[in-house]
Amino acid sequence: MRRVSVFGATGSVGQNTIDLIARRPDDFDVVAISGGANVALLAAQAKLLRADLAVIAQDDLLSDLQDALAGTGIQAAAGRCALLDAAAIPVDWAMSAVVGFAGLEISLAIAKNTRTLALANKESLVCGGALLQKTCADHQTRLLPVDSEHSAIFQCIAGADKLVERVILTASGGPFLKSSLAAMEQATPEQAVAHPNWDMGQRISIDSASMFNKAMEVLETHALFDVTPDQIEVIIHPQSIVHSMVGFTDGAIMAHLGPADMRGPIGFALNWPERADLPVERLDFGALGALSFQHLDPVQFPALGLAEQTMQMGGLAGAAFNAAKEAALDLFLARQIGFLDMARVVRAVLAQTDVASNDILCVEAVIAADAIARVKAGEAAQKGF
Ligand code: NAD
Ligand code: MG
Repeated sequence: MRRVSVFGATGSVGQNTIDLIARRPDDFDVVAISGGANVALLAAQAKLLRADLAVIAQDDLLSDLQDALAGTGIQAAAGRCALLDAAAIPVDWAMSAVVGFAGLEISLAIAKNTRTLALANKESLVCGGALLQKTCADHQTRLLPVDSEHSAIFQCIAGADKLVERVILTASGGPFLKSSLAAMEQATPEQAVAHPNWDMGQRISIDSASMFNKAMEVLETHALFDVTPDQIEVIIHPQSIVHSMVGFTDGAIMAHLGPADMRGPIGFALNWPERADLPVERLDFGALGALSFQHLDPVQFPALGLAEQTMQMGGLAGAAFNAAKEAALDLFLARQIGFLDMARVVRAVLAQTDVASNDILCVEAVIAADAIARVKAGEAAQKGF
């Protein structure tokens, strides 16, 4: 039996992970699972999986969790420190699926103690990519990407890293692909959250509508694979069937196709290096008809240009980019700024970010870069555009 833990178990990726693990009770010994604030769901998951430990991130929810787990023998804990302690419990495989910058330290704790880190939390790579990669190397931890595009790229490269010429990330285009700029200026959080193909958490769904998610994935690609910024391309593919492609030096292109179901990439990481039978729909190409591709409009989706700028800046610009984007998203959700203002906030923060003295291998430096960028994002929004 493999010892496994799942952080962010109550979220979209987390629930899909729990679904796969729960189908094979004889194969997995579940050590720790965590949630943010949903005590009822976390307790139900812990009982279903007979986990040793359940951790709720919000510390005032400890007694609720203890009550929900009373008599089960499952240990309950709460708060940030308890969460980081749980991530440091040695296991064979752990999923890092907390959303946002809060996931970085969890990924680092897993990387120091676990054989395989299944990484959904893209912010870990965008903000602290060099640090996370070094931590994995120092502890001989295998990092497996769970983001669907990066799982696809990993599967297409299949070890032939040195022969890669280009990486082509696909983007669905989100709910505003055919919208005018004027309509996008007025877009509400309710409109932005409605993703046409993928069923995801609220924050990543809105990031998909603005293409900030794709911009994050470009930065993630840069941090994960040995490619330069000019080797990374983004193409719109509205059907979300091709999850990404890799072009090799002989002109051949490998593409990864599958249904838009996160249990594909999660299951790949869970079973790697094997492939296992997964409960996902099988593609029917006749029913699909055509797969289409188109270039994206950089004016409609300024996030991609900002990702390019972030890669050129280097240092901890990724941490500033992510923090500004997260802060801007909070302001958009609070209806204090408009949809397209999110990119304006990130642009203003990057313009004020100095990366010259960044220590990219120091977690405190990453945390400081994040904190500074959040303050600057608030100031930029306050000043107006
Ligand atoms: P989500 O919002 O559905 O779930 C996030 C999880 O983290 C929940 O368990 C939540 O309770 C917990 N959480 C939130 N804030 C926390 C905090 N401060 N401390 C501890 N726990 C906290 O998010 P999601 O859509 O599952 O995404 C998780 C991560 O995976 C993100 O980084 C996202 O970008 C990435 N990702 C998601 C998808 C997807 O299909 N949803 C696809 C690719 C990558
Ligand atoms: Mg993705």
